[in-house]
Amino acid sequence: MKFQPVIGLEVHVQLKTDSKIFCGCSTRFGAEPNSQTCPVCLGMPGALPVLNKKVVEFAVKAGLATNCSISHHSIFARKNYFYPDLPKGYQISQFEDPICREGWLDIQINGEEKRIGITRIHMEEDAGKLVHNDVSGLGEGSGVDLNRACTPLLEVVSEPDLRSSDEAVSYLKQLHQIVTWLNICDGNMEEGSFRCDANVSVMPIGSDTLGTRAEIKNVNSFRFVKQAIEYEIQRQIDLIEDGGTVVQETRLFDPNSGTTRSMRGKEEAHDYRYFPDPDLVPLVIDDEWVERARGELPELPEHKRQRFIAEFGASEYDAEVLTASRGLSEYFEEAVAFHQNAKAVSNWIMGEVTRALNDSGKEIDQCPVTPRLLGELLKLIDGGTISGKIAKTVFDEMWRSGREPKDIVEEQGLVQVSDSGAIEAIIDGIMAANQGQVEEYRGGKEKVFGFFVGQVMKASKGKANPALVNELLLNKLKG
Ligand code: ADP
Ligand code: MG
Ligand code: ZN
Repeated sequence: MKFQPVIGLEVHVQLKTDSKIFCGCSTRFGAEPNSQTCPVCLGMPGALPVLNKKVVEFAVKAGLATNCSISHHSIFARKNYFYPDLPKGYQISQFEDPICREGWLDIQINGEEKRIGITRIHMEEDAGKLVHNDVSGLGEGSGVDLNRACTPLLEVVSEPDLRSSDEAVSYLKQLHQIVTWLNICDGNMEEGSFRCDANVSVMPIGSDTLGTRAEIKNVNSFRFVKQAIEYEIQRQIDLIEDGGTVVQETRLFDPNSGTTRSMRGKEEAHDYRYFPDPDLVPLVIDDEWVERARGELPELPEHKRQRFIAEFGASEYDAEVLTASRGLSEYFEEAVAFHQNAKAVSNWIMGEVTRALNDSGKEIDQCPVTPRLLGELLKLIDGGTISGKIAKTVFDEMWRSGREPKDIVEEQGLVQVSDSGAIEAIIDGIMAANQGQVEEYRGGKEKVFGFFVGQVMKASKGKANPALVNELLLNKLKG
């Protein structure tokens, strides 16, 4: 029997607000344990939560950017369970009436577009964190850090529309791109700002009844998501082929072994006893609010990608790379405003700029070579003042000093030599010193041509105009 995998993802997006969802405490990561807490997020009896308006604005933006409808009326519910990092004994979440529903994302898979449904997006608070074995000042043992308690999260739940690990990763990457683009999440997966539960089942090909699913908890990298799903699909297929049945359960992914193992079965599943939180009034969002949020949305990556192709003649691939992040796409547009050769601008961004950013571990918004300066540099190349090769040296100097390319070129005497007399003199000298190679070339070994180009460029310290060098060399060598 052949099997069809089915996957649905629940993604937790940590929102980039300064303060927590129901109190004024800071959300900053990495502070001294329990230094960012108050009676509300410590879960003291009688302390009252107050909803952070920014969280609602971010949720509405996320909903609009993923084609959801925004609920005019939504409520917060208590999700009851016991855990040491949850002092209240319940998490405030949304259950029956989430803020966003029925959206979708279109993913690209094998060159085709596929629509993945989004069931719902709801707001909730995060729990605290247990710290084991390294409790500061206390030695061995376990402690509770409640700095993270009450940190705002969105949970984005997809329909079971994904059919492979590649589709799941593609969907996840797109969602990640959108929330970082909207600037509502820092997207840091290592710190857990964007993490995912993967629900996986298999069914016989041709069947229209979904199989029983296992839910793999908290996978926090694209690579692990792919590994976890692939392992889980194979485990379920092997199990069924051996005559067993898949049971509904929660599983954990172990990155070291690349496997998943059972955490709890259906019998041990929580019965959360959801009920509306009496401390929070229903959230009412009118059309005016939704429309204002819609008006504030930036141009989204997909739209921008299409526009780069139409407006600047970018290739599909270039447009994809240039819209990988909002910062990069804006850098490109600003640079093109200074120098209209879009192809050259995009080549330089995807080449030198990206390389230098990677080498230095910097993000595009920290790039010492501003879009204007890159534009100025490309003007010097296209105007024939410097060669592309020399431009790389100038770029490195701009990266170090942030100076104007024109000043660097003047100061270091890097202006391109386009004087044919001067270049011919160099060529004559090199031909005289390499008679053997000249004969080889004339005897039909055309590869030697590259050797001569290299020698001439070297002798001119890279400043000879390469097109002119080629032309003059060809004439002279041919005799
Ligand atoms: P829960 O809250 O128990 O996790 P939900 O109804 O919220 O349950 O569903 C969670 C996720 O499981 C959704 O993303 C959904 O698409 C996915 N899902 C539901 N049924 C299946 C299935 N048979 N196989 C794979 N994924 C599934
Ligand atoms: Mg779930
Ligand atoms: Zn607090």
